[in-house]
Amino acid sequence: MLKPGLMMDRPLLLSGILEHAATQFGGQEVVSRETHGPLFRYTYADCAKRSRQLANALHGLNLKEGSVVGSIAWNNHRHLEAYYAVSGSGMVMHTCNPRLHPQQLIYIINHAEDEVVLFDITFAPLVKGIAAHCPKVRAWVCLTERAHMPEIEGVAHVLCYDELIAAASDVFEWPDFDERSAAAICYTSGTTGNPKGAMYSHRAIVINALSGCLPSVLNLSPEQAILPVVPMFHINAWCIPYAAPIAGAKLVLPGPKLDGASLYELMESEKVTISAGVPTIWMALIQHVEQNKLRFSTMKCTAVGGSAMPTALIAKFNDDFGVEVRHGWGMTETTAVATMSSMTPNERAMSSADRHALVGKQGRSVFGVDIKVVDEAGHTLPRDGSSQGELMVRGQWIISGYYKGEQSPLVNGWFPTGDIATIDAQGVMQIRDRTKDVIKTGGEWISSIDLENAAIAHPAVAMAAVIGVKHPKWDERPLMFVVRKPGQTVEKEEILSFLEGRVAKWWVPDDVIFLESLPVGGTGKVQKADLRKTYGGVFS
Ligand code: ADP
Repeated sequence: MLKPGLMMDRPLLLSGILEHAATQFGGQEVVSRETHGPLFRYTYADCAKRSRQLANALHGLNLKEGSVVGSIAWNNHRHLEAYYAVSGSGMVMHTCNPRLHPQQLIYIINHAEDEVVLFDITFAPLVKGIAAHCPKVRAWVCLTERAHMPEIEGVAHVLCYDELIAAASDVFEWPDFDERSAAAICYTSGTTGNPKGAMYSHRAIVINALSGCLPSVLNLSPEQAILPVVPMFHINAWCIPYAAPIAGAKLVLPGPKLDGASLYELMESEKVTISAGVPTIWMALIQHVEQNKLRFSTMKCTAVGGSAMPTALIAKFNDDFGVEVRHGWGMTETTAVATMSSMTPNERAMSSADRHALVGKQGRSVFGVDIKVVDEAGHTLPRDGSSQGELMVRGQWIISGYYKGEQSPLVNGWFPTGDIATIDAQGVMQIRDRTKDVIKTGGEWISSIDLENAAIAHPAVAMAAVIGVKHPKWDERPLMFVVRKPGQTVEKEEILSFLEGRVAKWWVPDDVIFLESLPVGGTGKVQKADLRKTYGGVFS
């Protein structure tokens, strides 16, 4: 018979994280770019105080445990206060992606039943357009002070955040409740059909955030200053706003200024040591740094995910700038990072080309997440680094169902990710493609990610994307889009012959189209659906 353990049963709650930071690292800084421009700085102790004021103010608006509070906001200190005030009082924080189509925003606000929505001044025109279609929202709270309040004609119940909390007491007893209660909800981007809600429990977020602090994940400590460029409006900024206060790390929030120059300036002025974002952000940053012949004085590591990080960019960060790249994988349904590249001493001793190729893969699953790949019949494939199939995940921070979803997405207790991957004997997983992006040609598969990776290695190529285009004989053939680096003149023939040496002959795209830029979606990823809509016709 099992013996019961004799430990206290204290719930894992988000309020505990904030109070830990406020009491143990009370003087540690949080620096935030205001939406109207200047930098704002205070401490975890100040943040906790304002968060308690907000908790009181939300109760004053008649919200209760279980109420849902939406946010349409950048990464800034008021958003951070809301993360804790809302979830800490037993309400549910619904972060909305402002780059969703307004119809989808209306859909998710109504589906989640938001009662109050917090928004940044940038999004005042958006609020003006959607407010009338969100009947359950009783108040729209603008995350600013009185001096910067926007005029929003025709929307009733617009409140000023700073005024709202100024009137509230900073004494608030965070309630204790079941750690399995909902803390936050985030909807998928809904590229096919309506967005679906992933509802995170306190327990899931706390365990994920703890794991994010590990040396093999983000390596957070009071000596680190972390700049999450990944948005707080999508997948909780990979739980960095929770992990940093656990570790007592300085938190630097970039607000709306996400261009290469602004990020570089912030990294330097705030002595940032680690940052996190999608590859398109890092491409822009590196371009700025190279063009202006700059160096990083404190940046040691960049965590990247959301889409595949090209090996050429990994090499550049590492070899030219001494910045280590950590490449992770995760999705809305996995709370945050589920796999991460990390190196054993043997792997670190490999040649730099082999190391970069290894980091180009998405890494090992972090503790708490199990992964496997299965064939179409659901049989587990060998961990041989070449058998590819659908990636399945399970663990304490993987969803078991969608909010108000009727059918469970799980297959025998595992979540099917829709990603095609391989896993090798060392446990290293590599995403080969998304099921919807893989190119099926003559009964074989071409990985669009591998082709893009190969093209990015060309010195004149800034960005590349590949889609499958219908073909009368081969079913589909690859079509490549290339954005040239500024001042470069590379042409199609040169790209194709460059690729010939790097990928199988039958992988070489049938055509290359040069564009000024690629369509990038709400979370900084190239929108292949848009490319398919415009160019996905038929190759003759
Ligand atoms: P969406 O892209 O639809 O908004 P998510 O933001 O949840 O959805 O993104 C999850 C997807 O992003 C994964 O299923 C995977 O296809 C892709 N992804 C995430 N990280 C990586 C990575 N490091 N390499 C390749 N693809 C990735």
